[in-house]
Amino acid sequence: MPEGQFKEGIVGGRLQAEQYADNFSDLHPPLDQHEALVESDRCYFCYDAPCMNACPTSIDIPLFIRQISTGNPIGSAKTIFDQNILGGMCARVCPTETLCEEVCVREVAEGKPVQIGRLQRYATDVAMAENKQFYQRPEPTGKTVAVVGAGPAGLAAAHRLARHGHDVTILEARPKAGGLNEYGIAAYKSVDNFAQAEVDYVTAIGGIDIQNGKALGRDYQLSDLIRNYDAVFLGMGLGGVNALRADGEDAAGVTNAVEFIAELRQAGDLAALPVGRRVVVIGGGMTAIDAAVQSKLLGAEEVTICYRRGQEHMNASGFEQDLAAANGVTIRHWLQPKRVITDAGQVSGIELEYTALKGDKLAGTGETLTLVADQVFKAIGQSFVPAALNGSEASIELEAGRIKVDGEGRTSLAKVWAGGDCIFGGDDLTVSAVAQGRDAAESIHRSLTQG
Ligand SMILES: Cc1cc2nc3c(=O)[nH]c(=O)nc-3n(C[C@H](O)[C@H](O)[C@H](O)COP(=O)(O)OP(=O)(O)OC[C@H]3O[C@@H](n4cnc5c(N)ncnc54)[C@H](O)[C@@H]3O)c2cc1C
Ligand code: SF4
Repeated sequence: MPEGQFKEGIVGGRLQAEQYADNFSDLHPPLDQHEALVESDRCYFCYDAPCMNACPTSIDIPLFIRQISTGNPIGSAKTIFDQNILGGMCARVCPTETLCEEVCVREVAEGKPVQIGRLQRYATDVAMAENKQFYQRPEPTGKTVAVVGAGPAGLAAAHRLARHGHDVTILEARPKAGGLNEYGIAAYKSVDNFAQAEVDYVTAIGGIDIQNGKALGRDYQLSDLIRNYDAVFLGMGLGGVNALRADGEDAAGVTNAVEFIAELRQAGDLAALPVGRRVVVIGGGMTAIDAAVQSKLLGAEEVTICYRRGQEHMNASGFEQDLAAANGVTIRHWLQPKRVITDAGQVSGIELEYTALKGDKLAGTGETLTLVADQVFKAIGQSFVPAALNGSEASIELEAGRIKVDGEGRTSLAKVWAGGDCIFGGDDLTVSAVAQGRDAAESIHRSLTQG
């Protein structure tokens, strides 16, 4: 037993060195060729494939599965990439249990869907391992497009624009490209530096120049981009984090879950990453689950998620909730944070209030509960930070705090499109960001070529 196991406070090295590699290995190990053939054989190749309608990028799922079953994984990968150039990452991170696999006729009939996500990973892995590139860049059109943000939305938009021959400059604030694929997705969903391998695969088409460390609003303004490029795509994601609105939330040991996860994703040595002995996570979405599970995998002894509504209201899917439970995370419902308790400025616990629905409204009941904690993670949602857009002469229209777009991703400003988490009306999933980036790129292309 390593010394750190039951140490109070936020410390590293809670586990034996070899346990970290085990704990953070692939959540769903890849299918081998034989397993992929057997699984693909389970597909009925439905003519009205409900799975395909449930995929935000509308991948022709029965076709790609058929191609696997006939021993043609490269053709299968092309079917996937035609619709979704980040099909490799989506195969790893999509909540398939609430998308394609939920509506698979074998799920409906037998409670056991075709494992579409794992088959998609199989095909895309084969093609990427061979660096099989399917798209030639045509003669440059001479048109230039600035893409702000190198996340899934920005990368998908850039690739589609490059496929049409336009020159793309991606301006990315962070030191690495990939957005939350690199800085947010749970480590056990994207192992072996896959996010960067995918960025390389996507940009290999040519005509895409990624400039890191270039933040809109700090290093240049939106009006500069509108002036200097033929079109602009905003794929900036969500830069802000919602506050707990509980007393004492600035105490040492209270951290934004997304910051903790980003640090974890960039850590060279997980054993050096400090984590509390008793961790409380406030929230009910994927971020809350990821922060909780990864705290446990780093060796925290007790990890409790507190969510202010019931299990049925959680944004995290049933699969994600089960994953948390399987890793020893306790999920408690109908609790909202009231006060962070400190000892010499350091969090030592959290007081929570029970909640109940009064009609449609959630209200505190007055009854409280205190949990001992040396680390508290805030995972109650992220927000769009519009300040980066302030430098534009004309202001961009927002809706409910995010960028307002029409059905093609056009914003209220001429020459400016947007997609991904930063727009209003999305569902904050990687695959949806890819679909919106791709579709906005098609709209940009139409506008650039229709004179
Ligand atoms: C912890 C966590 C776990 C998640 N897990 C999953 C999952 O398992 N499955 C799933 O489908 N979805 C998951 N999501 C959601 C998913 O990651 C997002 O929906 C997706 O990344 C959105 O893509 P995007 O391109 O819109 O934004 P992002 O991925 O956020 O990319 C935006 C990019 O823009 C850059 N940027 C921001 N501001 C500026 C600026 N001013 N100038 C220049 N660049 C800027 C950012 O640095 C970033 O690289 C998760 C989200 C979080 C927070
Ligand atoms: S719904 Fe299921 S069985 Fe039908 S095509 Fe899709 S994956 Fe195959």
